[in-house]
Amino acid sequence: MTPEICPAQSKSKPSLRAAINAKCKDCTYDPLSGGGTWREQVAQCSSVNCPLWPVRPAPISGLFANPCRDPEVVPQEWLKLPAGLAVSPHPSDEHPQGNSRV
Ligand code: SF4
Repeated sequence: MTPEICPAQSKSKPSLRAAINAKCKDCTYDPLSGGGTWREQVAQCSSVNCPLWPVRPAPISGLFANPCRDPEVVPQEWLKLPAGLAVSPHPSDEHPQGNSRV
């Protein structure tokens, strides 16, 4: 006897990255906020206790690229900045993780 296949299993699954991206975009993005693109807004997310925060998407270039992903070292001042102003520090800035940008 052949086991029944769940309809959901017959479709291709989205990647884990696509699922995280979709969750973060749904959680944070406000197209009317003026806070940037969806990736820029998610990069500025200050919810460091969210399990997705260390792996949240970010732009690959520009002022919001490569944001801090370690809740232990993120500057408290950065967490208080409003959307649109929480830029990543300049690439030449020191970063305790050895990453050149926060
Ligand atoms: S990391 Fe931020 S944007 Fe992504 S799900 Fe968590 S709280 Fe929402």
